[in-house]
Amino acid sequence: MKQQDFETLLADITKEINEPIEWKEDKDHYPSVEFKVEVISEPKYPLVVKGSYNQLAQTLTYALIHQGHGRIYALDLGKDHHNPTCSTVGRKHKHRWTESFRDKEDMYRMISLL
Ligand SMILES: [Zn+2]
Repeated sequence: MKQQDFETLLADITKEINEPIEWKEDKDHYPSVEFKVEVISEPKYPLVVKGSYNQLAQTLTYALIHQGHGRIYALDLGKDHHNPTCSTVGRKHKHRWTESFRDKEDMYRMISLL
């Protein structure tokens, strides 16, 4: 996927979730719960949204996943880690896909969204 393809996908406003979101026990990561729903869109992008919440660690992630490219956009709450460029990202941050780093480039703290 080229950067421009990603930007076009992200800008597409026809994306929607058209089914109920049900949190379920994540058997591989106790005591986490998770959900996964399909994202429908007019260009028929192969997308799903996954959510993951760990009550013990107090971490929450919402991720947009492209079936061919993996995680392309995500919001992380409650966990801090490093960018490929080794800057620290803070406990509230977004990830977005870039051609060079896949989804590893964190944008900025998402305080304005919360
Ligand atoms: Zn993160």
